Amino acid sequence: MALISLIVPSYNEEENIDNTVSVLTEVCTGCGEDYEILFINDGSKDLTFEKILDASKKDPHVKGLSFSRNFGKEAAIFAGLSAASGDACIVLDCDLQHPPKVIPDMLKLWHEGAEVVEGVKRSRGREGLLHKIFAGMFYGIMSKLIKMDMKATSDYKLLDRKVVDALLDLKESNTFFRALSFWVGFKSVKLEYDVEERKFGKTKWSVRSLFKYAINNATSFSTLPLQIVTFLGTVSVLFGVVLSIQTLVRFLMGNSEAGFPTVILLILLIGGFIMISLGIIGHYIGRIYEEVKGRPRYIIRETTDNLTGSFR
Ligand code: UDP
Ligand code: MG
Repeated sequence: MALISLIVPSYNEEENIDNTVSVLTEVCTGCGEDYEILFINDGSKDLTFEKILDASKKDPHVKGLSFSRNFGKEAAIFAGLSAASGDACIVLDCDLQHPPKVIPDMLKLWHEGAEVVEGVKRSRGREGLLHKIFAGMFYGIMSKLIKMDMKATSDYKLLDRKVVDALLDLKESNTFFRALSFWVGFKSVKLEYDVEERKFGKTKWSVRSLFKYAINNATSFSTLPLQIVTFLGTVSVLFGVVLSIQTLVRFLMGNSEAGFPTVILLILLIGGFIMISLGIIGHYIGRIYEEVKGRPRYIIRETTDNLTGSFR
């Protein structure tokens, strides 16, 4: 019998924990595998960890660890992978928008030899218009950068132990789980699911946090934006050459004008390009600085008593 670890990042989910535990328990006992449900409390400001502790006292399958503050979902996923001891790990959201009813299908595919089972959204569920537009743009750009269709991907995945170990060996601290699990390779199979409605509480993402997430993930995965700098430079040089020729011709023909608009236009354009370029380079230097400092991805404050073993 294999051990399956369910990894559940949780941030301010006090209303969801009990329900999530009972739903997941029901699904897992039906699968005939040994299992652990591992909650990662990502510095919640409510009683999420108290709920996890209570659940863990009632059922030893439920384990949990708690961060010293909010480190973000990515950190929570990696902490979960690191603390899990399963032969396979399944990452899913605490609000059960990733429907647990497809877990048996995931396990079946895994038993048939898949090393990664990618949960792929058949429908995106209900989302605001702004969110839809923004997500569309982000995934469009990311798909180009990563050379993989990201539109329907999600964090809902099953990973074989081999894949988990490969992911944990990566040194970078700015991770993008969704794409990294693709980047490490291995035999991957897609499994479609319908996004469920969130039952309790509300989403933790604001447009601002999504924007930050998008920029950080794009730059942690690709240096293409740096090449855009070169592109913008080339464009402005070409522009400059054309304008110079025009000015020269006019000068030689003897009808050269004051040329003020041209000068202002050029200054604005080139200035703009330089600013953008500096911004992009600055952003990358910032990222390098963060990685060089080598700070831990997360800091653990406490764990439930039944969570043993050495994990990072
Ligand atoms: N989450 C987290 N840390 C955060 C934000 C969210 O661990 O800083 C968890 C959250 O508890 C949930 C999952 O990530 O289990 C997805 O969050 P949410 O449902 O708010 O996002 P949405 O489904 O709206 O994209
Ligand atoms: Mg959700």
